[in-house]
Amino acid sequence: MLSYRHSYHAGNFADVLKHLVLVDILSYMGRKDAAFDYIDTHAGAGSYQLRSAHGQKLQEYTDGIGRLIDLDWPELAPYLALVRGMNRGGNLHVYPGSPELALTLMRPQDRAWLYELHPTDYRLLCRNTARHRKVKVLQEDGFAALPGLLPPASRRGLVLIDPSYEIKSDYTSVVKVLQEAYRRFATGTYTLWYPVVDRLQIDRLERDLKATGMRNIQRFELGVCPDGTDLGMTASGMVVINPNWGLLERMQALLPRLATILGRNGQGQFRCDVLVEE
Ligand code: SAM
Repeated sequence: MLSYRHSYHAGNFADVLKHLVLVDILSYMGRKDAAFDYIDTHAGAGSYQLRSAHGQKLQEYTDGIGRLIDLDWPELAPYLALVRGMNRGGNLHVYPGSPELALTLMRPQDRAWLYELHPTDYRLLCRNTARHRKVKVLQEDGFAALPGLLPPASRRGLVLIDPSYEIKSDYTSVVKVLQEAYRRFATGTYTLWYPVVDRLQIDRLERDLKATGMRNIQRFELGVCPDGTDLGMTASGMVVINPNWGLLERMQALLPRLATILGRNGQGQFRCDVLVEE
């Protein structure tokens, strides 16, 4: 039984990094007229009310999007425009999840596939995405479904794999599913989010990814304090396979500044590197 609800964490420092990378890639894909498919294997509820009981319980967004929303850094502009677009009137009360961000950036020719297993979040996701066309929302296991969608008819695709890792096997499942997806569709762009709770686990994930033989892998990580036990999630990262042109350079410029503004007591950290060359 799944117990994780993203509504307690929406807009936190981990969402900020994940969604900045996602918006960068989607914006790039939208520059060519040719259609693309967006596949979100762990979609969540689509968007989140920050003033709800869940949002207010931990108020994680105050140390994430809350610290950025009034900044006018050009590098943040496309992402912040999307968040601000949902919060007219200036008050931060809604935060877009990955489906909402993607669907807002997609064009009539593009298609989305959204998978969510939790019954409540699945219902919310259906409701939050109902106004969009060319979207399939499925209450199915995103890991199991992904290979069957590849290669997409459009032959252009972005996949987001964003599990909660409440099941420990998720750390190995993500590698297996990426390997199978890449075997079927080696030119797709794949993004994988991971939390740093136990650094050894992430070192293992990195080794396993490198051992798959997949090429052209970059990693972007943002931490709010140094690794440590009993501190919960101290950092999170995005692995990108077949990244878009310029993403590495933009993140190289942005991550040090983000680490400064989002770090706890000046302890922000970042990693920005090529795990496997093209
Ligand atoms: N991607 C979302 C975003 O950025 O807004 C957040 C997703 S949240 C971290 C992970 C979601 O995956 C949870 O809502 C959980 O219920 C769902 N989930 C867990 N295992 C799943 C699976 N095997 N297939 C589909 N959804 C799953």
